Parts: sequence; structure tokens; C-alpha cells
Amino acid sequence: MLTKVSDIWYSEYHDHDVKFSTELTAVLHQEQTPFQYLQMLRSETFGTFMTLDGYVQVTEMDEFVYHDMICHPAMAVNPHIKRVLIIGGGDGGTAREVARYAHVEKIDMVEIDGAVVDACIKHMPVTSTVLTSEPRLNLIIGDGLAFVQEAPDKAYDLILVDSTDPFGPGEDLFTVEFYQNCSRVLSDDGILINQHEGAFYEGDVLQMKKAHAKIKQVFPIARVYGFNIPTYASGYWYFGFASKKFDPIQDLQEEAWNSFGLDTRYYNCDLHRGAFALPNYVKKILESV
Ligand code: SAM
Repeated sequence: MLTKVSDIWYSEYHDHDVKFSTELTAVLHQEQTPFQYLQMLRSETFGTFMTLDGYVQVTEMDEFVYHDMICHPAMAVNPHIKRVLIIGGGDGGTAREVARYAHVEKIDMVEIDGAVVDACIKHMPVTSTVLTSEPRLNLIIGDGLAFVQEAPDKAYDLILVDSTDPFGPGEDLFTVEFYQNCSRVLSDDGILINQHEGAFYEGDVLQMKKAHAKIKQVFPIARVYGFNIPTYASGYWYFGFASKKFDPIQDLQEEAWNSFGLDTRYYNCDLHRGAFALPNYVKKILESV
């Protein structure tokens, strides 16, 4: 039985004068890894959650939103994806959602920090069980940037960049060179999903602009879609959908995706269409790059 750790709070800056806080019921693990400061914490509302360098990465309460939305939109646009590369994703949630598709043949996952995998296997089974149980999953502990540099042409149909924000170990993943390598490594109908940050607070807007400007240089189709996630800055976050061939709305294969019969808590094809419908202020941010 965990003793209640009263009056100890986890707080995270969402902007220079805005904080997100939750009262802790337990501090499960804290470690300075070779790459980042890793914490596994618990609160009544968010359950067990992981932070890296002081930023929430994944919580038991709202991880379903993030992992539905990083995976299913691409799978619904191209229902024939067989070879998937996940970059980052050490908690396992993204791999868990990809593994729900029986027609996927290979899931390569490149996570730079083995300590993240170990901590999530120990403290967050809801996302990490797949890491030790899925035969199609090939978990590589290494730098996703180097992996993509060395990967062969047209080796994957889908790349999911489930990395941390563009500083620390995640910084190198937000470069034109990285996206050019992703494009080379993707098949002709390949899709890239990546972190597109937030559109509310100034620092996040800057990161969104930087990411979009770089991806637009590399992929002919570069769209952005949003989702409601309580523990990320402003509660609304975005992914980028980049492709050489598919438009995420015109090429949505709703009937094919529904035929998979997946019981998802957040994603459905109506929401898919809505997620790509952006507020005017976000359109203006993206048009300004
Ligand atoms: N949902 C989270 C988010 O949106 O911020 C991401 C979760 S996942 C835990 C982020 C992972 O990216 C971390 O485990 C981190 O170690 C990994 N990562 C960061 N940079 C990386 C790189 N260059 N190569 C591979 N993995 C990387």
C-alpha cells in the first residue's frame, strides 16, 4: 500500500508564468540517465506518469489520446501499411497501437534511452507490455537520427516520430536533414507522423513554425492535425502528417479502417476529419512559414 505523500506536487512550466501541477501520491523512480532526467511519479488523477527533463511524456490517464492519434490517422489513410519505424516511443504506447493491426509485418522501434524502457516496463505496464510480448517488434536502443541516416531506401511505409521536444536528445530529430532521410527511407506511398508541438503558448508556436517550415521543404503534402490532451501545454497538441502521395482527408479509407474493428477510446474517422480542420489562428501560424 503506497503511503500518501501529502503536499508534494509535481509542477511543470507551460509558459514562463503558467504552471501545470498535480499532487503526488508516490514518487516511484528518479534517475539521471546519460540522456535526460527521468521521473516515474503518481497522482490520483493522472495515475502513474513519466517526466523527462521536467516535462510530462506519458500518463496513464490520457496516454490513450496521444497514442490513438499518433498511429490511427496514418493507418486509416493507407490501410496497407506493413513496415513501421517508430523513433523514440520508449514507453511502448505507440508500438502497442501499431501492433493492433494484424497486417503490419514489422515494427522497428529506435529509442535512445534504455532507462526509459526499463522504467516503463517496471512502472507503466499499460503502455509497455507490448515491448516484451510482441514478436513483430524489434526494439533497438540507439539514436533515431543515426538509424535513419543508415537505413536503406524505401525500407518503411510509415515512420512515427514519437520523440521528446526539440531540445536535449530530441533536438536533432527536428532538422531538414532528418526529414530528408525519412523521405528517402519511406516507400513512394510512405507517411511520416511527427511532433508538431502546440499553437497556444509563444514557445510552442515557435517550435510549430520551425517544424512545419522544415517538413514543407521535404514533403509535397504536409498537413497538421490536433488533439485534446490535458497534460500537454494548453491541453491541445498537434501532430504533422507528411506524405509523398496521400492527402489525409481526400484519401481517408473509412470503410477499410472500420473493417479492422478496432475498439479505440479516442480515434474514429469523424474525429479524423475534424482533427485536420484547424482554427483560423493556427492556419495563420502555418501559412506564415
Ligand atoms: N509522448 C511524448 C511526447 O510527445 O513528448 C513522447 C514520449 S517518448 C517517452 C519520447 C522518447 O523519445 C523518450 O523516451 C526519449 O528518450 C526518446 N528520444 C529522444 N530523442 C531521441 C533520439 N534522437 N532517438 C531516439 N529516441 C529519442
